[in-house]
Amino acid sequence: MKYLSTRGHADRPHFCDILLEGLAPDGGLYLPEHYPQVSDATLTAWRKVYHDQGYAALAFEILSLYIDDIPAADLRALCAKTYTAEVFGTGEIVPLRHVEDGLWLEALSNGPTLAFKDMAMQLLGNLFEYELGRRGESLNILGATSGDTGSAAEYAMRGKKGVRVFMTSPHGRMSPFQQAQMFSLMDDNIFNIAIEGVFDDCQDIVKAVSNDLAFKRQYKIGTVNSINWARLLAQVVYYFAGYIQATETNAQKVSFTVPSGNFGNVCAGHVARMMGLPIAQLVVATNENDVLDEFFRTGIYRVRGSADTHETSSPSMDISKASNFERFVFDLLGRDSARTADLFGPQLAQAGRFDLSAEPLFVQAASHYGFASGKSTHSDRLATIKDVFQRHGMVIDTHTADGVKVAREHQQPGVPMVVLETALPIKFAETIVEALGQQPDRPPKFNGIEDLPKRVVVMPADAAQVKAFMVEKCD
Ligand SMILES: *Cc1c(COP(=O)(O)O)cnc(C)c1O
Repeated sequence: MKYLSTRGHADRPHFCDILLEGLAPDGGLYLPEHYPQVSDATLTAWRKVYHDQGYAALAFEILSLYIDDIPAADLRALCAKTYTAEVFGTGEIVPLRHVEDGLWLEALSNGPTLAFKDMAMQLLGNLFEYELGRRGESLNILGATSGDTGSAAEYAMRGKKGVRVFMTSPHGRMSPFQQAQMFSLMDDNIFNIAIEGVFDDCQDIVKAVSNDLAFKRQYKIGTVNSINWARLLAQVVYYFAGYIQATETNAQKVSFTVPSGNFGNVCAGHVARMMGLPIAQLVVATNENDVLDEFFRTGIYRVRGSADTHETSSPSMDISKASNFERFVFDLLGRDSARTADLFGPQLAQAGRFDLSAEPLFVQAASHYGFASGKSTHSDRLATIKDVFQRHGMVIDTHTADGVKVAREHQQPGVPMVVLETALPIKFAETIVEALGQQPDRPPKFNGIEDLPKRVVVMPADAAQVKAFMVEKCD
């Protein structure tokens, strides 16, 4: 399998070439040259693989269609090492839980940091260690986080040979639980940098450091953000696992509702559907930051400035532009890389928006690709958390609540609707208390985490000081 850039660059790298990279050289995103097609017989075989051998074996089947530069035995071992009951809490790894008539939750948040990002990041950690070891290289990951990404990256990379993580976060702005998760890590290869500023300042620092090409090369700076193809690919697996659990035969269809921000999670659903998984709808659920809902309703994609990006009680979906969205638009436009390059290059830079409403192709977003969307606000979130608790005795997190709210508006008779559970409620306890008047459950291994010693340096929003810190730690 070779990969191409959504903006048409001539290179056709293989999986391991793009594993350690972010964007393609022309600023586009990588996608496979084609989507491998899963026949009815293969899907039936995969049902048996999942039921008899488990999630890791299913992951191997799917990943091996996209990865031809890691020997099969090694890839199988990497999957087996990643998706274990010890790390993800259950043997099913992603069990379905019944909520009410026709509605299910797929539990993706029982990994080390209690958010779905662990599903992909844990694999990425093992892939990085493997590939860096094979090349005899090392990598310094520099990131910016408002919470979930940073902790998932640190728990995936801790103790990994050849990798250091430098994670910036806005000083004092993450939830106490999120701060405790990250700052209590004492591994030698993990460095927390709290920046006196907001999340955008952290992102600006990462950009400034990455744009210093000499520094980037000398210190082997890399990233693990959601545009990384390996992360997206890892997420494709749980759409298959969810489908297999929700159905008995391949004649049945399933819909998924996905709490969305950067369009990474739901883009993996798009890939699964393109492979032939019988998905009826892919429902994109947003919060008050409704860039994506607006697009699927109107055909207009309008990115927001940071001043127009609301701080909400589902903060991991507070985005102003969806960094993976270019992948879907590329497919929607019949893989026209010149048009994609124009829309996501000059058009967005100059106008901050593009408009596909007059395009016959836009209609296909729903009819051809199954996409639908909806939006949920703070009061919807509180009402949904309360309702699900009162009627079903389940406590759901704020992002998942946005999903349930929107899913209920899109259910179709006879088609199971699976909502992806993207975090556990303990991560966003303040809003749970607001909705229910009580604290959410805390998995026992997190008892007392806020009282552990913390390791973090506080710095002004100054890229030069961050660089100096990195240099000191790399020597
Ligand atoms: C990252 C995250 C999301 C958004 O996922 P995308 O892939 O960016 O669309 C939703 N919910 C939670 C809890 C997250 O951490």
